[in-house]
Amino acid sequence: MFLNYSQLVWFLLPIAAASGWWLARRNARTAKANTGRPRISPDYFKGLNYLLNEQPDKAIEVFIKMLDVDSETVETHLALGNLFRRRGEVDRAIRIHQNLIARPTLNGEQRCLALLELGMDYMRSGLLDRAESLFQELIQTRSYTVQALTQLLEIYQQEKDWDKAIDTARRLESSSGERLVPIIAQFYCEKAEELRQGGQEGQASDMVRRALSVDAHCVRASLLDAELAVKAGKPKLAIRAYKRIEKQDPDFLPEAIYPLVDCFRELGKLDELMVYLESIVVKHGGITPTLALAELIAERHGEGQAIAFITDELRRRPSVRGVNRLIKYALAHAEGATRDNLLMIKDLTGKLLESKATYKCNHCGFAGKSLHWQCPSCKYWNSAKPIHGVEGE
Ligand SMILES: [Zn+2]
Repeated sequence: MFLNYSQLVWFLLPIAAASGWWLARRNARTAKANTGRPRISPDYFKGLNYLLNEQPDKAIEVFIKMLDVDSETVETHLALGNLFRRRGEVDRAIRIHQNLIARPTLNGEQRCLALLELGMDYMRSGLLDRAESLFQELIQTRSYTVQALTQLLEIYQQEKDWDKAIDTARRLESSSGERLVPIIAQFYCEKAEELRQGGQEGQASDMVRRALSVDAHCVRASLLDAELAVKAGKPKLAIRAYKRIEKQDPDFLPEAIYPLVDCFRELGKLDELMVYLESIVVKHGGITPTLALAELIAERHGEGQAIAFITDELRRRPSVRGVNRLIKYALAHAEGATRDNLLMIKDLTGKLLESKATYKCNHCGFAGKSLHWQCPSCKYWNSAKPIHGVEGE
């Protein structure tokens, strides 16, 4: 619900009127000076005056002040605070929630709800430390545990505090029953990346192993594992890690193909590479393994056989990248007008590929040219994959 100022004032107007009327009547009753006619609070007219003078900002302040906090208006305060936060007016939301919490009349349940809301206000305004201590307090009192843990998990991810993120995700998993192991594995991978960047490859490997022990299907861990093995001069181990991806999620195989080719080359095992690539092409298709295999065929048996192989594959699975490669091979033997035409087509397919994203988030549809394990748009983990189809993989 997103209201503009004037809509918000019209929403507040009757509530303020009722509250002012109720207060006036109650005060009149206790003072035993009931004239028999309920009096409307002067503040109400003050607010109304601001409104008529097109000063909705001041009108809102007055109406809010009129809303005395008692058991009957707590809900209204909470709804208002929530509304302000959603509209991006976090300072107002914070004031309302702080005001609520300060009231001794609040019952335990209401106080906890106000704490949760205030914590979310702090998060929205970037005051992560304050938000964190409120959510910790809620967890200690066993109130709104799942919501508080969810928010804490968000905070630790923003702060890149992966140890706390792992611990919180585990607690959230047991409180909510939601399966979070694929995300926990990503947190271990984040730690591994940090360690690798700091030159601590051995400890990075330990983290990769932990990632795989919590989630055996973590493709990122296998890629990291393989890259660390390559860096350590162990191509055999790297091949084993890259090959694991086929069982984990074959959609990610394109990520492994060219590094795998390098490892097999280093070991001089081109026959074995050829058998492996053939099996991948037969089982999963995909233009990256097809082109890697075509290069190998061209190298060992000549370009004529590579062209025949690609043509055959394109009939089964059309691909712009395949056509582009085919033209490259054809250009080597073309002359005159044919060559000019081929160059023009190659230019066109090249431009078409340049403009296309290679990865897409399956949750929000965000697409780009680099692989993100956490979507930069919707912040989901494990939601982006290489794009398959005629213009993609
Ligand atoms: Zn997304």
